[in-house]
Amino acid sequence: MPELAGERRVGRYAPSPTGALHLGNIRTALLAWLHSRALGGQHLLRFEDLDTGRVRPWAYDVTRRDLEWLGLDWDAEYRQSERLEHYAAAAARLDTYPCTCTRREIQAAVQDAAGAPHGTEPVYPGTCRTHPHDPQRPAAWRWRVPDWHICVQDSLSGETLCQSLPAEVGDPVLHRNDGVYAYHLAVVVDDAAMGVTDVVRGADLWPATPRQAALQQALGFPRPQYWHVPLMTDYRGERLAKRGGAPALRDLRDGGTVTPGRVLAELARSLGWAVPAEVTAPELLSLWREQARL
Ligand code: GLU
Repeated sequence: MPELAGERRVGRYAPSPTGALHLGNIRTALLAWLHSRALGGQHLLRFEDLDTGRVRPWAYDVTRRDLEWLGLDWDAEYRQSERLEHYAAAAARLDTYPCTCTRREIQAAVQDAAGAPHGTEPVYPGTCRTHPHDPQRPAAWRWRVPDWHICVQDSLSGETLCQSLPAEVGDPVLHRNDGVYAYHLAVVVDDAAMGVTDVVRGADLWPATPRQAALQQALGFPRPQYWHVPLMTDYRGERLAKRGGAPALRDLRDGGTVTPGRVLAELARSLGWAVPAEVTAPELLSLWREQARL
């Protein structure tokens, strides 16, 4: 892990404006804010809005108002949709190739590949590395991954995760065939450009961290410290999701029956923190410091 002592720390909350924030999103937003502020650092709000088909234009404003209502401020705001030239410039520095394979063709190749690793996600077997692409079809651009074995460490859990790029990750798409830059590329480019030193985000992104670290290494960017926080689950143990109808903070806010202090207290209690029935965000700083051993 790079030495960060003495350096100005920068953290961020990076929501996708695809709907109203639910309590799980908000808990991650709270922890990201606590982290930046506990370190006396800057805190950024970055809207990850590259997938324009999924973006809801009203979600930017609802997100800002949700954060303000809870007293979670930020020092600068960005939108990925306004930064496309940076992703294009980074992609141009990597060894990429066009790929017009359909999902079905890839699936068939994965099934045929001897010794395909069994993970949750099939690894792209590199079919288009050698096959000519079909100029009639729109091409996605894939990164020809180097033969690296990448290890990342999570600062919150202390866990280390190692992945071999060709065998366990495959050649990731950097630019989709519908023209959208991939999240993994954008996040790496932005964290470097914005001087982000500390990434606090949901644990669902932990398995994707080695490929992001690989992109940082290939592009010569520093690696931030990672703090993956647990996702909030419902009473069945299932992860809260916008699509699954998880309660939106906006509705609680508009309902007028709960106070921000109460919501913050419930979020803190869901983390096992002992707090009074109402708290402010700054009152939670010491609890995060303790949990993250800052
Ligand atoms: N935009 C991602 C999300 O909403 C978060 C990305 C990140 O924090 O690296 O899940």
